[in-house]
Amino acid sequence: MFCKAPLQQLPIPLLQWYREHARILPWRSQPTPYRVWISEIMLQQTRVSAVLPYFHRFLQAFPTIAHLAAASDDHLMKLWEGLGYYSRARNLKKAANQIMEQFGGIFPSSYEEILTLAGIGEYTAGAIASIAFGIPVPAVDGNVLRVVARITGFADPIDSPKTRRLLRAAVWEIIPLHAPGDFNQALMELGATVCLPNGAPLCSQCPVASFCRAFLQSRTEELPVKSPRKPRRVEMRTVFLLFFDGSVALRRRPEKGLLSGLWEFPNVPGSGDQALAEWEISPAQQWEACNGKHVFTHVEWHMTGQAFLLANDILPEGWVWANRAKLQQTYAVPSAFASFLPLVETYCAVSAPLSANRP
Ligand code: SF4
Repeated sequence: MFCKAPLQQLPIPLLQWYREHARILPWRSQPTPYRVWISEIMLQQTRVSAVLPYFHRFLQAFPTIAHLAAASDDHLMKLWEGLGYYSRARNLKKAANQIMEQFGGIFPSSYEEILTLAGIGEYTAGAIASIAFGIPVPAVDGNVLRVVARITGFADPIDSPKTRRLLRAAVWEIIPLHAPGDFNQALMELGATVCLPNGAPLCSQCPVASFCRAFLQSRTEELPVKSPRKPRRVEMRTVFLLFFDGSVALRRRPEKGLLSGLWEFPNVPGSGDQALAEWEISPAQQWEACNGKHVFTHVEWHMTGQAFLLANDILPEGWVWANRAKLQQTYAVPSAFASFLPLVETYCAVSAPLSANRP
């Protein structure tokens, strides 16, 4: 059973605590709609410390919505490289174009209009509306669900849509009208810095411990409850590192699906025995290569690397040669392939004189 009574006591001590303890962050010191939007999208599934350098670079490259709308896909992806969940960047550009076309280049100021933008769901719309426009709507993400489930001692799985609706409605009822943005940020901040996940909350530092049910009933380890996860699918792949004259071969991933539109080292499922023949690629030498592993939300790639110096520079249509400078500045290679990069750097250097000496 859900008892929302403890939440009535939440706003005052939470806001007081937030005003004393909030971390100083660039999107908080200047909470314009554009900055709040970019920060909220970057912060999805990503820690603040990882986001900070990306946020600064992004704002420097695209200081306004108009700049973002006009960005080239490669420039955008290069700036996003390493942050993961690349569809977020694509949706940012899509939404920037929507704002230019439908809202005259001005960020929309109502919750309902914000919700129509690409890549923006209830949580992000609530965060932007409350922080940048002072609209009293909730912004309930996984952090906030965890905090609210613990304060109320609610033991249903927090990842069910029913629980999300119930807890979101309960938070909506207690948002202080004079400070909706601070209140939402305070709940997020409490979840990020004190009411930590995985049974390790810092209750002795918490401003709401005196009425938190999980704390009072010694149930912080068991709350929140989550539905059992499906095991991730494991995919064995072979990654081909192909070199010629100081460069490595890259190809673009399909426009739809995992890591869509990004550049990658050519790779295939399984052992890849026939791959070079099918691509009509002529190897001159095989070199030692490393292996790699990358964990996505629903799938794990276990990758075997194979490295070759090629006999010529002929590649299948659409593939490109990238030297070290282009790898660093032009092509966005997702971090799924990060374990191969040091080797690629080395072999780019090694292959230049070898290719030049070929007859
Ligand atoms: Fe979380 Fe502990 Fe605070 Fe309760 S008292 S909200 S469990 S940190």
